[in-house]
Amino acid sequence: MLFGDNTLCALCMLILSITHIDLSLSLGLARVELEPKLNTDVYYSYDGMLDYLDQLANDYSQRVVLHTVGKTYENRTLKTITITNGDGRTGKPVIFVVAGAHAREWLTPVAALYAVEQLVVGLEEHRHLLRDYDWIVMPLVNPDGYTYSRTVDKWWRSTRSPNGGNCFGTNINRNYDIGWRTGYAAQSDPCQEHYAGSEPFSEPETRAVRDIMQELVDTGRALMYISLHSHHTTVFYPWTYKSVPTDNAIKLREVAKSGAEAMHKATGTMFSYEQASLNDPFGGTSLDYAYSIGFPLSYALELSGQRNGNTFDFWPPTTLLKELAHESWVGISAMAEKAIEYYPTLSAETESATSQTRSSSTYSLTNIFKILLLLTAITILSQ
Ligand SMILES: [Zn+2]
Repeated sequence: MLFGDNTLCALCMLILSITHIDLSLSLGLARVELEPKLNTDVYYSYDGMLDYLDQLANDYSQRVVLHTVGKTYENRTLKTITITNGDGRTGKPVIFVVAGAHAREWLTPVAALYAVEQLVVGLEEHRHLLRDYDWIVMPLVNPDGYTYSRTVDKWWRSTRSPNGGNCFGTNINRNYDIGWRTGYAAQSDPCQEHYAGSEPFSEPETRAVRDIMQELVDTGRALMYISLHSHHTTVFYPWTYKSVPTDNAIKLREVAKSGAEAMHKATGTMFSYEQASLNDPFGGTSLDYAYSIGFPLSYALELSGQRNGNTFDFWPPTTLLKELAHESWVGISAMAEKAIEYYPTLSAETESATSQTRSSSTYSLTNIFKILLLLTAITILSQ
């Protein structure tokens, strides 16, 4: 016998460890089925939303990461979730989705979280949306206002920062530095829900979104921005603050159209799609700002909040949340597919192919190594 008992034991352990790798993979697949589900039977509190994001980040740590991106006036933490397919490739273009800018539009955070669930838990079905693209979702950009809307004044729309006297709040979607205070007069009234703030980016919430946008633009990763609102049942695209069309108006419109038509086909709800300034232009919107700094595609997706001829203002009954959120996801995913078609990432695809080749050759070498080890072990044991 060429080897002692200790060596044989080491070889046995090696074989077991190889087997263990496969077992771990199987157990991993089984574990996924036990994931906590998004509860669409209720309107979450902000803490409830953060709990759900924490659970996802914990259970899918290989492809999901949370970032703290700021603090609100009332010191609530602003969080985003970055969703990847877990291939480890960095620098992919990003689709950035933000919800809940207007506090009373309770359906929009539900829709954002539903999109998160589809992309994270439903990765297999939506793998094409994450192959060369990452997603960043901010499910609630205005938690102060949302919490106030839930607990004090259902119709509240703005942030909760003080404006002097007994007037509070700035309209987040008038506070961006693009055509600021252009349009109707109420934007200058600190006691109105249209108040655009004391200056552009006066609000920590808008500054947080701005910084994310800017970083994506600076790193060449800005593809599409979607801000979720309700309940105009329309896909709006820039400009909002002026009536001239954008340079890529045709593409902007086609992407909007693909979302509107997909939702109509899925649920029968008629969505419009149009340049936002079609009626009365006004300034300070996030969709204009995103477009102005370099996102080629930028939208305000106004959800429907209606079913079977009934409209529910900003608060559809909880029994309808799942299907309304699903409707919005049909629109968002259709828009993403069209965006990818219009703005393919050639370098990313090349890198992806290289990465796949690299990964498959690594896989083959690993398998050959495993087989050689097993053959050696069998030879030794048989002597
Ligand atoms: Zn809104």
